Amino acid sequence: MTDVTPVANNFIRQIVLDERAAGKHGGRVVTRFPPEPNGYLHLGHGKSICLNFGIAREFGGVCHLRFDDTNPSKEDIEYVEAIKADVQWLGFEWDVLRHASDYFEVFYRCAEKLIRDGKAFVCDLSAEQVREYRGTLTEPGRNSPWRDRSVEENLDLFRRMRAGEFADGAKTLRARIAMASGNINLRDPALYRIRKVSHQNTGDAWCIYPMYDYAHSLSDAVEGITHSLCTLEFEDHRPLYDWCIQHVDLPHHPELVQPLREAGLTATVSTPRQIEFARGNLDYTVMSKRKLMALVQDGLVAGWDDPRMPTLSGARRRGFPPAAIRTFWERAGVTKQNSVIEFSVLEGCVREVLDATAPRRFAVLDPLKLTITNLPEDHSESLTFPNHPKNEAFGTRAVAFSRDLLIERDDFFEVPPKGFHRLVPGGEVRLRGVGIVKCTEVEKDAGGNVTGVCCTLDADTRQGLPGAERKVKGTIHWVSASHALRAEVRLYDRLFTGADPDDTSDGKTYEDHLNPNSLRVVTGYLEASLAQAEPETAVQFERLGFFVADRRDHAAGKPVFNRTVTLRDSFAKPAR
Ligand code: ATP
Ligand code: MG
Repeated sequence: MTDVTPVANNFIRQIVLDERAAGKHGGRVVTRFPPEPNGYLHLGHGKSICLNFGIAREFGGVCHLRFDDTNPSKEDIEYVEAIKADVQWLGFEWDVLRHASDYFEVFYRCAEKLIRDGKAFVCDLSAEQVREYRGTLTEPGRNSPWRDRSVEENLDLFRRMRAGEFADGAKTLRARIAMASGNINLRDPALYRIRKVSHQNTGDAWCIYPMYDYAHSLSDAVEGITHSLCTLEFEDHRPLYDWCIQHVDLPHHPELVQPLREAGLTATVSTPRQIEFARGNLDYTVMSKRKLMALVQDGLVAGWDDPRMPTLSGARRRGFPPAAIRTFWERAGVTKQNSVIEFSVLEGCVREVLDATAPRRFAVLDPLKLTITNLPEDHSESLTFPNHPKNEAFGTRAVAFSRDLLIERDDFFEVPPKGFHRLVPGGEVRLRGVGIVKCTEVEKDAGGNVTGVCCTLDADTRQGLPGAERKVKGTIHWVSASHALRAEVRLYDRLFTGADPDDTSDGKTYEDHLNPNSLRVVTGYLEASLAQAEPETAVQFERLGFFVADRRDHAAGKPVFNRTVTLRDSFAKPAR
């Protein structure tokens, strides 16, 4: 990824710029992010959050967080809290927090207005009959036999629906639009249904609940939203969105929002404009709440914030910096073309941010003993290392050095592969910050496995001394065996093996595509300074990758680090 970031391709930003130039909306920008609290947010939601909050921020506007809680049975307060935390973690703050359910009384009044205007009717058709009457893409629908009820009868029935006189599914309130419309969404869609369930926010106050398109468009208008940004699947719903806005006509009917004023809520109504953009998709990832929920419920991951999950809370726990996610979506741009972005592009953004922000540390994850035989047994020294190779502002730290060290097992080979430039019997390698050592002896167990190596140190080759100029090809890192901090280190890999886990063509489900090696837990030996790391501290273990102290399980005395990402994109692409 280059440093020269072009102005990202974002057609919505361009629309706002053009509108401002033309003096529309008085230059005001009010957006909203409208999650349904029926699961945790994923990286795709991150795109919508960055877009809505980003546009508002860029143009001096405001963005609302609105819980679309119109579907009582699937929603939960746990999700509400998780969503708020995720939005803030991503770096955004809402100006107004609302729930669609705050507007239930307004929606109800709007429905009575539509009835009085002859624009809505109570229908007794069952769900199955409604489907029958609806027609198909090629055939028009048929009018419901209840379509021509009088205003009085409709008002009476609708009030009795609200009062709980009818069973679930016995009646619906439907818009009276056009059963012959080429757009099925306009064939007298339901506006209200009866559901006798309690609601997380309104309790048992209601037994009729508004349908999505109706509630969504009116919520936008009630809140004074100027730009209602949503994903492409709502394109066909836009005529219904506009129909609701137009026929309810809030700007000319202030009495409809009176309940809000009484509740002490502001109501600066607007005529919002819906604009659709393409969803963000990533390969090697599923991004449907239903599927993510199944992974959690089936115990295939350790929870919504499992570091392998593509949820925002999973990314956080994995150690992805919020800035990397913002940069990623900024670069991805906003268009109307559906596409799938490689997960490695996101990982590239993560590396870029962490390279600049994460201090360097030494850690050995697969240890091999290295003894420096020409040092006294009690040799103990404190060496100073810079915390960042490119940024002096990170300062320095002391690292304990002694005679008995640990190095990575694969930094030594008895019979080295071709091109191997690190330690071999009789060979030399530079120990970071120490000098050049020569391998004089290899220790083995009865089974012939290498258990340690003995070396001599050429003391003249330490940095600052004349011998430091002497060249050897490899440099390796180390930790002092007696000073090292033992830690649980979780090595994460991708959750799915296939680029398209949703591909079911060979009769598989996405759960069949799970990577059995997506988590490997090892004991790591870390330099002692990490004992003080707070949860969520990001570091680079030199030569190994970026790691983060686990947000939940890491504690003083029980260090737990997660691998966020390796240093290079080592992900093998399947042969094509
Ligand atoms: P899912 O299909 O996973 O259940 P959803 O779209 O139903 O997701 P919502 O809670 O309704 O989930 O989403 C809140 C907002 O985030 C909506 O405006 C939705 O369009 C947007 N959004 C959801 N997924 C994506 C995505 N992959 N890319 C961009 N925006 C998204
Ligand atoms: Mg949705």
